[in-house]
Amino acid sequence: MEPNYSSTTVTPDTFERDFVFDYLIVGAGFSGSVIAERLASHSGKKVLIVDKRNHIGGNTYDHYNEHGILIHKYGPHIFHTNSREVFEYLSCFTQWRTYEHRVLTSVDGQLVPIPINLDTINKLYGMNLNSFEVEEFFKSLAEPKEYIRTSEDVVVSKVGRDLYEKFFRGYTRKQWGLDPSELDKSVIARVPTRTNRDNRYFTDTYQAMPLHGFTRMFEKMLAHPYIKVMLNTDYREILRAIPYREIVYTGPIDEFFNYRHGILPYRSLDFQHETHDTPVFQSAPVINYPNEHLYTRVTEFKYLTGQEHTKTSIVYEFPKAEGDPYYPVPRSDNNEIYKQYKALADAMLGVYFVGRLATYKYYNMDQCIAQALSVYGKIALKV
Ligand code: FAD
Ligand code: UDP
Repeated sequence: MEPNYSSTTVTPDTFERDFVFDYLIVGAGFSGSVIAERLASHSGKKVLIVDKRNHIGGNTYDHYNEHGILIHKYGPHIFHTNSREVFEYLSCFTQWRTYEHRVLTSVDGQLVPIPINLDTINKLYGMNLNSFEVEEFFKSLAEPKEYIRTSEDVVVSKVGRDLYEKFFRGYTRKQWGLDPSELDKSVIARVPTRTNRDNRYFTDTYQAMPLHGFTRMFEKMLAHPYIKVMLNTDYREILRAIPYREIVYTGPIDEFFNYRHGILPYRSLDFQHETHDTPVFQSAPVINYPNEHLYTRVTEFKYLTGQEHTKTSIVYEFPKAEGDPYYPVPRSDNNEIYKQYKALADAMLGVYFVGRLATYKYYNMDQCIAQALSVYGKIALKV
């Protein structure tokens, strides 16, 4: 039977003319994808998610290289969190492989654990201290400070100048192009100092890798009939062509406002990927090189993914100032610029700024997810 379109029925023509996306989401990394998923599957909203790259997943994107080895295109990504909510949320889209990350660092010709722990000190100085003795050892080296303001203060006040020079100063100068004394204390405070033998990089309650990789997990998050994904597209190309009601923006905030208050620095990296014809390349998942090379660290992916393969793939990270924005640079003058952009953002109606680039915060993945869930919660209250 022919369909009977009465004057009140929505015909294909009027549908096309009246169709409006409820949300245009800029960026298909964690921040954009979590909000897209929530808006579509929980609030029944129609979402267009746009990314200028040719893939979803943002900086956590992983893929099989030409040798069939799963690698992280933008450097090593290890999932860890203390938030049960975040872990349970992601568990809707992936199974997990339990993985506790461990890092060695190359100091004085030896490979020793980082974060600095009891074994690090004993190996480095050929001693046999116990936990109490190493605590005393740190105290004897520490230069107490009244105010801990910078990243230099964090380390020097705890373990003194020699360990600071060996483990942190060179690495930080390379990574950020700044001395630790010019960086907010929060940067180096990410790496603790321990008096026990715990050699894990993180101590969070939940530590795991998505069993089939990050990209597969993103595919599941975005596989909803109300979500359309548009790649290879800068949102500014389609802003006037595609109707939408509100925007969620996860790109750099200074770019959004055409650098009106000046450029916010984001640190970038060059990634040098290599595959070697040997099953194992190095003795740890990541080895840091604070002093002797232009790169900061080398990652061997098979440790992270658990993949078995006769060859192995690694990546070197070379920090640089220009290029894709990877790290906001935490220091007070940058925070002042950010505050000016935040004031502009707060005054806008119908645009939400979310994520590491748009809120200029040195966030781990789990912090981005928590922030995105919280912003979604605020949007959901209104709709
Ligand atoms: P992004 O992943 O940067 O996504 C933003 C997206 O927006 C990008 O895909 C970009 O292409 C797109 N975009 C920007 N502008 C536009 C535009 N104009 N039009 C269209 N699209 C646009 N976290 C951890 O928890 N554990 C780790 O081990 C870890 N390791 C890391 C290692 C490195 C080298 C780096 C750089 C980060 C690491 N992180 C880690 C942090 C983690 O990558 C971030 O917390 C998270 O990926 C940020 O997600 P996001 O969605 O906010 O931003
Ligand atoms: N850091 C260092 N030496 C190290 C490891 C870290 O000086 O061996 C400092 C450096 O400034 C680095 C920061 O601590 O940028 C945070 O380290 P993390 O491993 O968390 O960096 P990310 O994985 O985010 O690049």
